Amino acid sequence: TIILGIETSCDETAASIVKNGREILSNVVASQIESHKRFGGVVPEIASRHHVEQITMVLEEAVKQAEVIWDDIDAIAVTEGPGLVGALLVGVNAAKALAFAKNKPLIGVHHIAGHIYANRLENEFVFPLLALIVSGGHTELVIMKDHYEYELIGETRDDAAGEAYDKVARMLKLPYPGGPEIDRLSAEGKVTIDFPRAWLEEGSYDFSFSGLKSAVINTLHNAEQRGETLDPSDVAASFQQSVVEVLTEKTYRAAQEYNVKQVIVAGGVAANKGLRESLKKRFSSEDIELYIPPIHLCTDNAAMIAAAGTILYKKEKFAALDLNANPSLMLE
Ligand code: ATP
Ligand code: MG
Ligand code: FE
Repeated sequence: TIILGIETSCDETAASIVKNGREILSNVVASQIESHKRFGGVVPEIASRHHVEQITMVLEEAVKQAEVIWDDIDAIAVTEGPGLVGALLVGVNAAKALAFAKNKPLIGVHHIAGHIYANRLENEFVFPLLALIVSGGHTELVIMKDHYEYELIGETRDDAAGEAYDKVARMLKLPYPGGPEIDRLSAEGKVTIDFPRAWLEEGSYDFSFSGLKSAVINTLHNAEQRGETLDPSDVAASFQQSVVEVLTEKTYRAAQEYNVKQVIVAGGVAANKGLRESLKKRFSSEDIELYIPPIHLCTDNAAMIAAAGTILYKKEKFAALDLNANPSLMLE
């Protein structure tokens, strides 16, 4: 099975061709980060316009690099949501046009299912598994007993982990996107500030990062008023420690309680070095297999959409040509 995947939900225009859900034949990503940087975040109008400008070239490049012809491609999978509606529509319309013109089945993929299936590109799933999803818009713990069966056991009650990283980075006057910047600074700093950890109610697998965000603001304000300057790398290291500790511990407890065989990590924050190390350490003595994708597959790409689309192709879950973008699509 050869699937063409298309992803345009946020600020990456991406197309990829994947064979049998595992083998990446091409994976083209045109990032818009430079264009959004001076605004300190993604500007939806600019994102849509860039997608329109880039999509044709990205698609052509993906087909060319894969060294396939259209006859080889079995179906076209595209992110239908969630994400920015204007951005999603560019990918959805390109996918519909191609499906119609080339007479191929169309498949709508949930963006987070894509992040989850990025894990399967290099390592086969073993069920039941636990997925920790940590991205720009989501922080969730999901149990999977089989392909494409998602049971949400915990989620954030306010900010997503990536969102918290980006907001704290802005307070520290670091460039967008802030996650990688804080990660880099953390390695140079020391944990000198005891920021709160939101464990929530006993046994809860939910998350909350808004209290931590406020604590960082207050700490910076208080220091400023006292005329002190805090070392930004220490603030970054202390913040990261607080986030990573809660993510690791809740993932560990859930893995135990649900008796999973495998733990996978998905989304942009899975690129975080502190989180990767902490999870590896926590699961080192367990029978549970921990797998974290390589960094280029953690952030937005289309190989993950093709990988998830392969499963839907096998299940014959096709979309009609009136497929629409759905900015608030649910995973379950
Ligand atoms: P979603 O997937 O929820 O729709 P998104 O697609 O915008 O949101 P991703 O592309 O999965 O999110 O991830 C981007 C987020 O990951 C940003 O918030 C970014 O700061 C964060 N991020 C990327 N690399 C790192 C890192 N090394 N450490 C921490 N955060 C990181
Ligand atoms: Mg992005
Ligand atoms: Fe994403």
